[in-house]
Amino acid sequence: MTTAVIVQTLHRINRQKSDLKSQLVRGPRTVAVAEGKLKAAQQHAQDLQDQLRRSKIDVDSKQLQMKEREDKIVNLQGKMNAAKENREYQALKDQIAADSQANVVLSDEILELLELIDEQTAAVALANEVTKEVALELDAVTKRVADRKVVLESELARVEKELAEAEKNLTGDFKREYERLVCLKGEDAMAELEGKCCGGCYQSLTPQLLDQLLVGNPIICPACGRLIYQDR
Ligand SMILES: [Zn+2]
Repeated sequence: MTTAVIVQTLHRINRQKSDLKSQLVRGPRTVAVAEGKLKAAQQHAQDLQDQLRRSKIDVDSKQLQMKEREDKIVNLQGKMNAAKENREYQALKDQIAADSQANVVLSDEILELLELIDEQTAAVALANEVTKEVALELDAVTKRVADRKVVLESELARVEKELAEAEKNLTGDFKREYERLVCLKGEDAMAELEGKCCGGCYQSLTPQLLDQLLVGNPIICPACGRLIYQDR
């Protein structure tokens, strides 16, 4: 004879079982989130590193350009000093003035780039620090989840054994109905009576069904099909 007390016990154990199972499922998800965070931090550090490298290439090329133009100016000055015609002298002088002005502009650009490189170097260092911290976080999360998994699995084994023991008390049609429902809905196969309602779907139960509960028999909710028991 299946009593409401047995159903109550089965409900409790099934709840524990599904809670342990959902905790076991959550573990790898937590690790995956931490892995995603590390990947993003690494990508960010890499992007900043690439920007810094481009700035350095840029400043090298501008410094080279400036040096070449300085050499050119020295060369032009030599030609200017040796110039015999006034027109040639004036043309070289204008050219030197234009090149000197261009180098002033370039020199400003180089200064700006050097400042930018300082900022980018600091940003790369910071991003590398953050990446290190996030990697440590991932290690800690991975270890915590692995440790917890051992505990949860041993708990689950214990609960499943307890459940198998409790299920031995089921007989006949009720046993078949219970097995079908649990397979379908897990812990939601059962519900406690709440007032005069099914605790699963909150439909009112007929006086006849409530009478069954009063004498200790479990009932099946006509609305949602859950096995209902009364707390004792
Ligand atoms: Zn119901």
